[in-house]
Amino acid sequence: MEGGKLIVFSAPSGSGKTTIVQHLLKQEDLNLEFSVSCTSREARGDEKHGENYYFISLKEFKQHIKNDDFLEWEEVYRDNFYGTLKSEVERIWSHKKNVIFDIDVVGGLRIKKKYPDKTLSVFVKPPSIDELKIRLKKRKTESDERINMRIAKASVELATAPQFDYIIKNHDLETALNEAHDLVERFIKN
Ligand code: 5GP
Repeated sequence: MEGGKLIVFSAPSGSGKTTIVQHLLKQEDLNLEFSVSCTSREARGDEKHGENYYFISLKEFKQHIKNDDFLEWEEVYRDNFYGTLKSEVERIWSHKKNVIFDIDVVGGLRIKKKYPDKTLSVFVKPPSIDELKIRLKKRKTESDERINMRIAKASVELATAPQFDYIIKNHDLETALNEAHDLVERFIKN
């Protein structure tokens, strides 16, 4: 694989990384395209196939694993698989763009390890676990059971933060957005 840079944003869900990634995608000077992951989970709210995720069955997902189609994949939550297809990154590079990922911490660190020089890995830190709980509840897209599952995982994920190139503390969204833009701009233009 050759081509542009890889920008990884990882964080516990609810910490605001998706908002940051969506903001960066609108900045034309950064020349970014979003890596659409495959997932075996069902679509939430107004999520669209091919835009937010490629929503596929567990069977299809397992077939991709067998075929070695993934750059990385994880069973992020029990029976909920997520993965980045190698073909997705190649597709974006063929557009002469840099790839931006919104993926879990294990997947993020795996990409960094595979492409240490090409990859900028950023961890987005939420103000606190309590704040995370409030944000997840506000989304109103999931059951209490699922929210609790995400919270339980968040503490483990927070412990991986020091392994990333940078940590952005998302206490104030505006500040976090500016910080993210500056980081990515510096990395891409280097
Ligand atoms: P959600 O269900 O909230 O969309 O995503 C759950 C978690 O899976 C999030 O942390 C999200 O970033 C992560 N995720 C999404 N796509 C991928 C992927 O391709 N690989 C990995 N390892 N994690 C992913």
